[in-house]
Amino acid sequence: MLLVGEPVLGEAEKLALAKVIDTNWVTMGEQVRAFELAFAAAQGAADAAAVNSCTAGLHLVLAALGIGPGDEVLVPSLSFVATANCAVYVGAAPVFVDIASFDEPLIALHDAELKIGPRVKAVILMHYAGFLADREAWHDFAERHRLLLIEDAAHAAGAEGAGLFGDAAVFSFYGNKNMTTAEGGMVLARDPDVLDRVKQMRSHGMTSNARQRLDARTASYDVTMLGWNYRLDELRAAVGLVQLASLPRWNERRRELVAVYRDALADRCPAVSVPFANDSRASAHHFLPAVLPAGIDRSAVMTQLRDRGVQTTVHYPPIHLLSLYREQNPAISLPQTEAFASRQLTLPLHPKLEHGDIEQVTAALAEALDAQAPK
Ligand SMILES: *Cc1c(COP(=O)(O)O)cnc(C)c1O
Repeated sequence: MLLVGEPVLGEAEKLALAKVIDTNWVTMGEQVRAFELAFAAAQGAADAAAVNSCTAGLHLVLAALGIGPGDEVLVPSLSFVATANCAVYVGAAPVFVDIASFDEPLIALHDAELKIGPRVKAVILMHYAGFLADREAWHDFAERHRLLLIEDAAHAAGAEGAGLFGDAAVFSFYGNKNMTTAEGGMVLARDPDVLDRVKQMRSHGMTSNARQRLDARTASYDVTMLGWNYRLDELRAAVGLVQLASLPRWNERRRELVAVYRDALADRCPAVSVPFANDSRASAHHFLPAVLPAGIDRSAVMTQLRDRGVQTTVHYPPIHLLSLYREQNPAISLPQTEAFASRQLTLPLHPKLEHGDIEQVTAALAEALDAQAPK
């Protein structure tokens, strides 16, 4: 089966894990600190805070930036549900924004302008499929409306400029992301005080951690703010350090494979479009977001591809249509997001894929579409 995404894991990760086990110190130590500094440097930031998921990181960022009850947060509906849930965690409300277009399925500036109101405190951008939103335009938007600017950078690890747009950004190292620690995430923040608060909040709001107390030979700590247990451990951080070293090579491989896909699809499935055509913006190419022609029975295509050994998925069912959110706000309509999501199909893309695999995927897709062509 050709999977939509697959991690690259091997001997180097096993060795790194064995080394941590030999030290007998398994959480919040040298590996976590080294991983934070290495990841920050790779994205061009001074420092970072490792957490146990991107979702946890988003929660901490909103809490550390002081977003709370009564506030609203602009979010794209075309995203993973965590992008909206994090607002609810802090007592705020997500306000769903449409995408710009089928070719640019990122949160739309013009729709965001329409959804501005007195309660809106922040906007969360999500770099769909790894393609970065327009930094200057959003920076200007946030400044004009005095909003906090946050990136859900789950798809964008290794993309040049990701994580440096505004006030804070969070990356994901979940198993299907461009680099993985199995579970894990990383927070960047422009203001070092915000990053310090994130670090304190990830460990119960305590003023020192176990390692610091050991080093300082003191048993005492205070709790000066509400916190959670969102720490990353040494084992995952050690794997993260190994993965991070390969990330530029893997992202370059993804870029090459996307170019091969674009040619093969143009050739075999000319009615299928791939967003960000003729677009030179930075991207980590997290997945291959094809869009099927209107009127195609997508689930029949997915079944037929599955029978040919090709897994496909959909990115994403719009968040505002998920029961939890739809029941609260049944009247919301985001026409571009809904139309795009009904025709979108994600094809396999990961560094282990070969050109021949892309031939197989695109040939199977052409056949599946042909089967639905009027006779
Ligand atoms: C994967 C993902 C997340 C959640 O990441 P976790 O590390 O699993 O919490 C959040 N937002 C987007 C857009 C994602 O793709």
